[in-house]
Amino acid sequence: MSERSERTSEHGSPAHSAGEGGPVSLLTIDDLVVEHRSPGRPAVRAVAGASLQVAPGEVVGLVGESGCGKSTLARAVCGLNPITEGSILFDGQPVTPLGLRRRKLTGIQMVFQDPYTSLNPRRRVGDQIADGLRTARDTVTTPADLLERVGLPRDFAERHPHEFSGGQRQRVAIARALAARPRLLIGDEPISALDASAQSQVATLMRDLAVRSGAGLLFISHDLSVVRVIADRIAVMYLGKIVEVGRTEEVWAEPRHPYTQALLKAIPRPDGMGVLPAELPGDVPDPANPPEGCRFHPRCPFVMDVCRVKEPGFGPVACWLHEPK
Ligand code: SF4
Repeated sequence: MSERSERTSEHGSPAHSAGEGGPVSLLTIDDLVVEHRSPGRPAVRAVAGASLQVAPGEVVGLVGESGCGKSTLARAVCGLNPITEGSILFDGQPVTPLGLRRRKLTGIQMVFQDPYTSLNPRRRVGDQIADGLRTARDTVTTPADLLERVGLPRDFAERHPHEFSGGQRQRVAIARALAARPRLLIGDEPISALDASAQSQVATLMRDLAVRSGAGLLFISHDLSVVRVIADRIAVMYLGKIVEVGRTEEVWAEPRHPYTQALLKAIPRPDGMGVLPAELPGDVPDPANPPEGCRFHPRCPFVMDVCRVKEPGFGPVACWLHEPK
């Protein structure tokens, strides 16, 4: 058994069983399927059987091209998208759309992509942060305390959202999320609308605040270079499936799935992750009509006959080149 496989479970995560003395998984996503349905059209499997775990105090980066299902998965974890098949357990309890009230009380908070629409423009930011403190029944912490924690002046509590830059608004959104004392923080592309200088600051801030409070952080981004800096583990998603999971430094040093290899090659490009290397042909296929076999096979430089007819298993790389013998 390799050193890597000794240290990681089937999903590339640390041993999370309480019986092994390790941390119990905070979030367990198991074979999750989420379909989008619209009248007169075939159902689209935006998430097509994804499994992932997040432990307390752990930062997991979820990466992939736009449209691969990352945000749908995040919304399902928050109870904002109904689950078609599979399960999501938060702290051992199933997450369902009916569980929204419980989510508020038990602590999953999400920071969204667009800091310009995620805050109420008519209310002072201090009042919006105070909503979260009430949810957590926290009578000690003040909105000014939280603004200070995210690197903003205390008197900004009196201001309205239009008085802030994009990076400052995202800090306010993080302060509001922290007010509810989340045990799991989800960032859904939280830095993609920010300018370059604010991106790494906000990403590092989310990591530091989550780790310091012992919360798990699921950080979704198309920017692998930022995820590399803040994540303990990386999960790579392609067309609704997670195709590789592993410790960040291991995935970086030795990416095994051909799609992960292509993503890493794309990083130095000034136009970012949206453009993959030239040797990777074509666009992401239509999720309503995914390819047979391995979903990546029409674009894969290593495609074999088996790839066109049979889907590879997952463990922790979904690729016939890495199937256990
Ligand atoms: Fe490529 Fe085949 Fe692996 Fe899919 S299973 S990534 S087509 S080698």
